[in-house]
Amino acid sequence: MHNPYKDAVTQLELVAKRLATEYEDKKRFAAAVAVLKKPERLLEGKIEITLDSGKKQAFQVFRSQHSSARGPYKGGIRFHPGVSKEEVQALSLWMSWKTAAVDIPYGGAKGGIIVDPKKLSKSELEKLSRAYVRFLGTAVGPWIDVPAPDVNTTPQIMAWMVDEYQAMLNETNTAHLQNPLASFTGKPLELGGSQGREEATGLGGVYILEELAKKLNWKRKQDITIAIQGFGNVGYWFAYHADTAGYKVVAVSDSKSGIYVPEGLDPVRTLECKKETGQIGACACNEKECNVSLGTKLSNEALLELDVDVLVPAALENVITAENAKNIKAKTIIEMANGPTTPEADEILAKRDIRVIPDILANAGGVSTSYFEWVQNLSGYSWSKAEVLAKLQPLMATAFEGIWSVYAQEKTTVRLAAYQVAVKRVIDALYLRGRV
Ligand code: GLU
Repeated sequence: MHNPYKDAVTQLELVAKRLATEYEDKKRFAAAVAVLKKPERLLEGKIEITLDSGKKQAFQVFRSQHSSARGPYKGGIRFHPGVSKEEVQALSLWMSWKTAAVDIPYGGAKGGIIVDPKKLSKSELEKLSRAYVRFLGTAVGPWIDVPAPDVNTTPQIMAWMVDEYQAMLNETNTAHLQNPLASFTGKPLELGGSQGREEATGLGGVYILEELAKKLNWKRKQDITIAIQGFGNVGYWFAYHADTAGYKVVAVSDSKSGIYVPEGLDPVRTLECKKETGQIGACACNEKECNVSLGTKLSNEALLELDVDVLVPAALENVITAENAKNIKAKTIIEMANGPTTPEADEILAKRDIRVIPDILANAGGVSTSYFEWVQNLSGYSWSKAEVLAKLQPLMATAFEGIWSVYAQEKTTVRLAAYQVAVKRVIDALYLRGRV
């Protein structure tokens, strides 16, 4: 079975080779790299809830706290049947690089529960979310580790988690020591959430697309075709903002199937249709009738190999592999999912001159707005959406510019350039703290 944690370590080793020349003391540098290969702390266990039927069910849960060198651990919590220890660990390394790539004062972490949340009722989901917080206990908190949504976790889930966290603090009479609202980000607007957070990951990706368009001298946005795999929070908002900015989104898919509309699709209508029919593929015309008339049906695999300018994997990891990398026709890939490209595929894409804008830069708009949410919670002051976006856009553009200049100078891949910038920041923090 594929081991994403191994992939994450391989990536780190690759970038360490390039960074080694910048550090004189080879032993100290090797010690720093060794530290970064492992999470600082791995919480792992089982939690049990009572289902609506009265039966008890146990779930395997994890939280991997990878690095606190640059600030509190930060990263989402994922509810998915495919969650594993290795996946959570890999994702926690990527979070450390991501927060460093955009230079926000956090480390990296990730949590997960092996569960298919679609099989749980609302009250079971609430019990599970609360039980997970009890499991985490004081290993999280505003100055320690600040979790957020990830795959299948929502603002409502963050609201339950914050409430449980506060209840836990109340039991020990410590709720006055910190603002419990700052313990989780991605909360609903009514409960300490930030304007713009919901759409921030997708929008941040489009800010990156706009910067790339300037570098590549793309003149007519309406000629740039985009295919997006995944139509959850990230994929939808990427599609929405790319369409609003004038690009042509020609294909989108969900976990079951997708649609292809060569003349460009309407993301809002497509979402409505997905909600009505349950899956995007059902929105396509069939042979007999075309009442929704949104285009032709397409498999997820076919979407990845479409002849488009920009391919946007926005679902799960390991979808671009050694098997399909040779068939990809897009010249640019913007990774909105975490870890969608395996290292083997990455090599093939580099040889084929396909430019990959890596996850740690492309999808950092989410965690960056989480940072703004946390700042607002800690200062007890909430910003307008215009204020949030006026901070997010330059943050993303500055990160892009810094990474692009390393990419241009060193004739490397954008991924390696991003890793070089990010990993260096984490190593420098380890040095400054004297941890190595
Ligand atoms: N789960 C998101 C990510 O992978 C957001 C993390 C956060 O906001 O802390 O970047």
